[in-house]
Amino acid sequence: GFKCGIVGLPNVGKSTLFNALTQTAAAQAANYPFCTIEPNVGEVAVPDPRLDDLVRIASSKEKIPTRLTFVDIAGLVRGASKGEGLGNQFLANIREVDAIAHVVRCFTDGDVTHVEGKVDPAADIETIETELMLADLDSLERRAVALEKKAKGADKEAKETLDLVNRALPLLREGKPARLVERKPDEEKLFQSLGLMTAKPVLYVCNVDESDADKGNAYSDAVFARAKAEGAVAVVVSAKIESEIAVMPEADQAEFLEAVGLTEPGLNRVIRAGYDLLGLVTYFTVGPKEARAWTITKGTRAPGAAGVIHSDFEKGFIRAETIAFKDYTTLGGESGARDAGKLRLEGKEYVVQDGDVLHFRFAN
Ligand code: GDP
Repeated sequence: GFKCGIVGLPNVGKSTLFNALTQTAAAQAANYPFCTIEPNVGEVAVPDPRLDDLVRIASSKEKIPTRLTFVDIAGLVRGASKGEGLGNQFLANIREVDAIAHVVRCFTDGDVTHVEGKVDPAADIETIETELMLADLDSLERRAVALEKKAKGADKEAKETLDLVNRALPLLREGKPARLVERKPDEEKLFQSLGLMTAKPVLYVCNVDESDADKGNAYSDAVFARAKAEGAVAVVVSAKIESEIAVMPEADQAEFLEAVGLTEPGLNRVIRAGYDLLGLVTYFTVGPKEARAWTITKGTRAPGAAGVIHSDFEKGFIRAETIAFKDYTTLGGESGARDAGKLRLEGKEYVVQDGDVLHFRFAN
């Protein structure tokens, strides 16, 4: 599955947010008894109102949302790249994630110590970014030595990798993230294989005071401005409120949300933003037994999408009976869509679209 790593300075609310994410009713529901896989790894349901529509139209007995994994990565402190804090352990954890959710303290509470002495989102972000850049720099400098030896021979991949490394090094030395490395589309795979942390997409999670949960505050505004300049994404959330909502009976949630000025839990925005950030889209399978959402990356063709359900579906793929979400819902479901000529038979080359309702035909 796809993984989003939660990073940030100590005491910014990472654990509070992680616990809220993995304790919500939605995360607990739907056939996944072990939402918290390890103490710091949790799977959450991706909230998607479209799935409710499908369940209603098809009278499905069960609703199974698709899921996203969050990893709480502790130990990132000033000096982490030099082995302070948990040091290397956390670095190994971050290398494995597909995207980074960077929690930034935007709440003031004087009872909670700020490791750097004052609330300053821009400075905090820079501290974290600097550690990640130093760690990337360190890892590339080590690799460059080995690659140079290999590249002297006929090792084409080593040459190409070294070329990318030599483009990344000067940027990192200037204090710029590796995601700014200019590269051609056909170099992307090799670039990703470098596992650089500052090349991963970032979502800033502004953890604000309870009273600012709806609109944010001056601190979060500053983070949003920064995100915009970097081409990153930001969301406002109050981890404290979310941790209260997460353990609340569903019946009480609506009233509580209204009282704090929210129309849905802020976590939903965090999850959806993480999903978008990873370039993920959803397709559905719908029947009387269950309506289910599945995750694929944008651009996945029908056989690859079938393979998410089962490798046999991919191997024996014949075609995908396809109904666009809008056709499915406006025409009252599968038979209505079929009667209106909106059920398409798509083959191997079809690029699955977000919201497609699919039925795979395959041979064993
Ligand atoms: P971590 O070190 O980043 O994992 O931070 P924690 O989640 O352990 O939170 C550190 C402290 O800040 C705890 O005492 C939390 O209760 C508190 N905290 C977290 N989020 C908020 C928030 O939104 N508002 C307030 N007032 N306190 C918070």
